[in-house]
Amino acid sequence: MSEPKILDGRALAKEIEAELSAKVSAHKEKTGKTPVLATILVGENPASVTYVRMKGNACRRVGIEPLKVELPETTTTEELLAEIAKLNADDNVCGILLQHPVPRGIDEQLCFNSIAPEKDVDGVNVTSFGAVTMGDKKAYKCATPYSIMTILTRYGVELEGKEAVVIGRSPILGKPVAMLLLNANCTVTVCHSRTKNLPEIVKRADIVVAAVGKPKFVKAEWIKPGAVLVDAGYNEGNVGDIDLENAAPLSSAYTPVPGGVGPCTIAMLMSQTVESFLAKE
Ligand code: NAP
Repeated sequence: MSEPKILDGRALAKEIEAELSAKVSAHKEKTGKTPVLATILVGENPASVTYVRMKGNACRRVGIEPLKVELPETTTTEELLAEIAKLNADDNVCGILLQHPVPRGIDEQLCFNSIAPEKDVDGVNVTSFGAVTMGDKKAYKCATPYSIMTILTRYGVELEGKEAVVIGRSPILGKPVAMLLLNANCTVTVCHSRTKNLPEIVKRADIVVAAVGKPKFVKAEWIKPGAVLVDAGYNEGNVGDIDLENAAPLSSAYTPVPGGVGPCTIAMLMSQTVESFLAKE
């Protein structure tokens, strides 16, 4: 079997950022206007602090102005909804990112749903999900699923008619990526914690998407030789949800961890922010 292809999300993110940066600076030259992405961080979860900082850095690389909104751990759902309403009404803001997860006690989905669809550049509200599921090309996609689809399509992975198995059904990952794969004409199976015979189901897959949140959960023995492996997981110690060390050599292509789905996710957030900015002009 030939060497598996590495689906390098970091390199792809760099390419996408360069394309975006050129678009933003051309527009700025013509109009003097700059896109603004509001990033809302509630509490001080260290991983969330890092993600928001990384997103802010990506904004600056592309020419987007990050507007940092930091709220205390004790914020209530009503207070967060009021903050989002302010940003929805602010004409200068073209995108709103509410960093997941918010502290327990806040109704996260309600807050996601209150983001105006035209500013939902992270693709987290039900309106965006519904529109994307129904095939609306203009609706904003959830960033991590969009990253996965971008990696697959830009690296030329054939999707039509392929058996895709998604492990995980979270609202920000498993469910939306399953819908995007379905829209790309894959035959999709979505697995979760109550799924029976998981190894046998995964063994059928031409494309495996792991979004479980458990380190090295998917074993090499479950993989059909030549399958494409997409590891969306990111666990302590820089390991994904697939035992890539043993499974990747069996695959035809795989996303590494780190350097696969993660970096490209941020690029997708930037991409949809620029899209929203240009749509407003
Ligand atoms: P999540 O909300 O915890 O969802 C995990 C999913 O895995 C659930 O649907 C759960 O099933 C399923 N699951 C749990 N145990 C299982 C088992 N034994 N067999 C089959 N399915 C099982 O996690 P998430 O937010 O989707 O994140 C998943 C992973 O992706 C994590 O490693 C996270 O760090 C990573 N992630 C990466 C990015 C990125 O940009 N790279 C973004 C977000 C998340 P039930 O629904 O039945 O409970």
